[in-house]
Amino acid sequence: MPPYFIGQILSSSTQGQSAAIASSGDIVTSSDFVITSLALQSPSENQGPQSTIVIVVGIGDKEPPVDVSTARDMIFGTRYGTVNDFYIKNSYGKASLSGKVVGPYKLPENACNIDQILEAAVKVADREVDFKQYPRIIIFAPRTSCVSHDGYGSVGKRVEDIDTNDGKIKASVSWNFVSSMAVAAHEFGHNFGLGHANLLICLTCQNTEYGDSSSVMGVQDARDLSAAHKETAGWLKKNIITASYGEYLLKPLEENLPSGAIQQIKLPRATGGYYSLEFRQPIDYDEGGPSSAYSGVFIHIPTPNFGLITNIVNYNPYDLTPLLQVGRVFKDEANNYEITLKRVDEDGALVSIAPYGTAVSPIEITSPNGGESWEAGSTQAITWKSNGIPEEQLMDIRLVKEDRSEIISFGNIFTSGSGSAQVQISPFSSGSYFVEIKTSFNGQTLFDESDDPFNIKNLCEDSDGGKNYNIKGRITNIRGEELDTDHCHTDREKYFV
Ligand SMILES: [Zn+2]
Repeated sequence: MPPYFIGQILSSSTQGQSAAIASSGDIVTSSDFVITSLALQSPSENQGPQSTIVIVVGIGDKEPPVDVSTARDMIFGTRYGTVNDFYIKNSYGKASLSGKVVGPYKLPENACNIDQILEAAVKVADREVDFKQYPRIIIFAPRTSCVSHDGYGSVGKRVEDIDTNDGKIKASVSWNFVSSMAVAAHEFGHNFGLGHANLLICLTCQNTEYGDSSSVMGVQDARDLSAAHKETAGWLKKNIITASYGEYLLKPLEENLPSGAIQQIKLPRATGGYYSLEFRQPIDYDEGGPSSAYSGVFIHIPTPNFGLITNIVNYNPYDLTPLLQVGRVFKDEANNYEITLKRVDEDGALVSIAPYGTAVSPIEITSPNGGESWEAGSTQAITWKSNGIPEEQLMDIRLVKEDRSEIISFGNIFTSGSGSAQVQISPFSSGSYFVEIKTSFNGQTLFDESDDPFNIKNLCEDSDGGKNYNIKGRITNIRGEELDTDHCHTDREKYFV
């Protein structure tokens, strides 16, 4: 996963703005550049055809990463899978890319860092190009020893002017060092004023840059921009609601819908900023994900910093499954919210927002719900409360290890509505687990999991890093081979060695 540059690029000698250190994870690759707080461009500049000059260059004896016709098709092509088509769809038809491709040119070998490459590319293209016509510049160049990423992009237009034979111009600049539509679309997203699509593992903890795989501004997949990014770019304007407590029907973010349809719910957070809720369907660039990607609602916390950064709230990096699934409640005591996804169907996703402590979940696990300690091999009771689920429903009960390396399904259990099930814990389990309970009712999957992990303790001692549980000794396996191991058990383990 290649990192990209984020932030306005200025040479240090000309920088007039106050410099600021980028948030962790941002990478500055050369002492010639600093990341500065940027003057965000006005979203009005992102409307209509974006007049773009694409310059294809080799450097010294290194060839360009694309030929001219490939670059023309990748940037300006009208078919699915081009940067132009990607932004037509993502802007609901409000923006497109037009212009021309020039080159291939050869830059002198000493063009090394991105400013030198820009300067040399503008100089060599100047005879053929009236730069006054182009507020957007895209360069395709081979990698040099001064660049370490697949692409770079200015966030919005560069603060400093670019000198051309046609006079000084203001332009955004993308540098592409590979032939990749996803990289070109990502860097052009920066040019539209956008920051990265990051991940928040939880509300206060670890932030993973690029960790949101549902966005082209995250990992290197050309998936749609988030609602907050579309809003920042000036393309999602009317279909946004700043919500309070109540029920709201979210429509798919990909569709170009008349005003009145809700495509982004913004929920103000007392602790700062807002939650942005959106609903995705397998349409155009959002096709191809797992089915779970389309059965839930994404929650982002946007951060207005170096271009709007979006932080998706989720469990795992690069996970396309939205946090909010039908029947699950997202609880936030600090901001006094409980957000429930009540239903997903052809009408959209019905979201209920209630004060903290008042939402009723269809399934609410009561034990183990975090902090318990169970012994491997023991029999234990799993208990829950059902709200509005008929007695005859079968409940699908699982134990899931926190890192998801082990999932034990107890199958669909008939509980006659008792809200409890006795389960036998595997003698081989050990570590942090969650219980998951799922059932399908009225065409909806209802679900809950333990709020926090509980522990399964294995009384056997592990002497070989978890390879074989658990007591030291020698055993004979099924093939008659004698092995050193630390198994606890005597009979069954022969079949597990
Ligand atoms: Zn980037």
